[in-house]
Amino acid sequence: MFNNLSDKLDKALHTLKGHGQITEINVAETLKEVRRALLDADVNFKIAKEFTKKVQQEAIGQNVLTTLNPGQLMVKLVKDELTTLMGGDTVGINLGGSPTVILMSGLQGSGKTTFSGKLAKYLKTKKTKQVLLVGCDVYRPAAINQLQVVGEQIGVEVYAEVGNQNPVEISQNAIAHAKTNGKNVVIIDTAGRLAVDEEMMTEISNIHKAINPQETLFVVDSMTGQDAVNTAKAFNNILNFDGVVLTKLDGDTRGGAALSIKSVVDKPIKFIGTGEKMEAIDVFHPDRMADRILG
Ligand code: GDP
Repeated sequence: MFNNLSDKLDKALHTLKGHGQITEINVAETLKEVRRALLDADVNFKIAKEFTKKVQQEAIGQNVLTTLNPGQLMVKLVKDELTTLMGGDTVGINLGGSPTVILMSGLQGSGKTTFSGKLAKYLKTKKTKQVLLVGCDVYRPAAINQLQVVGEQIGVEVYAEVGNQNPVEISQNAIAHAKTNGKNVVIIDTAGRLAVDEEMMTEISNIHKAINPQETLFVVDSMTGQDAVNTAKAFNNILNFDGVVLTKLDGDTRGGAALSIKSVVDKPIKFIGTGEKMEAIDVFHPDRMADRILG
């Protein structure tokens, strides 16, 4: 993941990494290269510009030219800024409420159903969590089947109502079912469309208002480039979601749009998906991701 960005940043920082003399010109050129690497990786233009500006200010503030290891200090400054860009600290999900209700949002194909299963399995390993998965895609019976397959695979009950075309009602009934059946986490997988449209936004907004979830997650395919940022904005305007899930980080992705999302919507990235298997889920650690990107 982030291979391309990693290579380019490594190249940009290469000359500074050694212990040789560095000059103001060196630093300026390096930062230009860093900016180019970010843009090539699909990081939003404004964010890439602000990023390098901040690193430059830090470099001046810390008098990078006169330190013993100026190159290493520059690498550290870039790493710190990358960590900040991705949110700084790890942010967990809110497991309050009885039951805890978690609503998945995002476009079709972003990985919602897969992630719902992964999260259910992840929470199930905490012995106190009894999870119920809910299929709310009333338009595609195949989506409900997919969730049922996932549920069987991980040993988690799936709630669905064949024939009911009202996702608000299904969600409410599912929560009632959870309460009477000893489930303390309800994960609601919603319908997605291939692009943001009014009907879909109204539907998810109605579900959100009716069930008032503890946690609303926006699931996004990290390979979708700048569109991902616009989609995130649209969903955040309607749902004011609590966190982002970046999927498909195992792919050969440029990934930069994912880096922009945190800045644009100011919501933490909480989980990442790194494969199709149910185990391919990780809590998002901004500092570890920055480490990985910089190698
Ligand atoms: P939904 O329409 O949002 O529910 O998306 P799905 O969960 O059906 O996922 C769409 C496709 O992406 C499926 O083929 C999944 O197997 C695949 N997928 C989901 N998450 C990941 C991931 O983290 N890595 C990879 N490589 N594939 C994923």
